[in-house]
Amino acid sequence: MPELPEVETVRRGLLPAMEGRLIERAEVNRPDLRWPLPENMAKRLTGTRVLALRRRSKYILADLSSGEILLIHLGMSGRMLVSGITLGDFFHDHAAPEKHDHVVLHLEGGARVTFNDARRFGAMDLLPTATAEQHPLLAEIGPEPLGNAFNEAYLAAKLQNRNTPIKSALLDQHLVAGLGNIYVCETLYRARIAPDTRAGAIPDAGRLVPIIREVLAEAIEAGGSSLKDYRRTDGELGYFQKAFAVYGREGQPCQTPGCTSTIARMVQSGRSSFYCPTCQR
Ligand SMILES: [Zn+2]
Repeated sequence: MPELPEVETVRRGLLPAMEGRLIERAEVNRPDLRWPLPENMAKRLTGTRVLALRRRSKYILADLSSGEILLIHLGMSGRMLVSGITLGDFFHDHAAPEKHDHVVLHLEGGARVTFNDARRFGAMDLLPTATAEQHPLLAEIGPEPLGNAFNEAYLAAKLQNRNTPIKSALLDQHLVAGLGNIYVCETLYRARIAPDTRAGAIPDAGRLVPIIREVLAEAIEAGGSSLKDYRRTDGELGYFQKAFAVYGREGQPCQTPGCTSTIARMVQSGRSSFYCPTCQR
């Protein structure tokens, strides 16, 4: 499942193709993804301009001149692929249409943006701009981990009286937006905190904030983590998975200098937590 760094990488890849550009034509090739696509979607997109392309949590939001916002969620296997313009050093030609190309946007300037999703857990919706913040998917989300509202005082106060394990607390999207299993495991390793530690028992819990930001910033820099289906907008892989210290490394040696332990795995709320039993207490 793409987490914040993967979605941010996709957003940055879409910027040169979409931001400020007119959508000259839209193809909508099926009535639904995870949920039904909006009615008359192709017509509502055609002739509108993308004023800005933002990210909120794991959603990409395109502010349209029509007074609507196009919400894009990659789900499990969704890809947004850009062709027809130069990305980085390379010109990406239009590929032949593929079986799971569900929505295709033809943009002013020659770019084509294709939403491809083999498993269809992704979603797209059109929301009135004026009330977008109240949309069920957006209304309850906590602060952005890279934004100013997520600071040491905020996190310390939120964790103070929590009896849940720190792993579950950081995965709670009401507390902070966009963090998932991978980046929480890596954060707790760097903070030397065991994933089952009671959140309220962590001294100076605000110190997690700069660690979370550091992990996310490094992951964005690496183009995200490609574990299964995730691709950047040029079709290439992200490579932060090569930098994982604990995630998916059960039984392999801990990378902390001087530590002779191997990485362990425990299951919390049905999900695997990877950690070093010696370094993380
Ligand atoms: Zn260790």
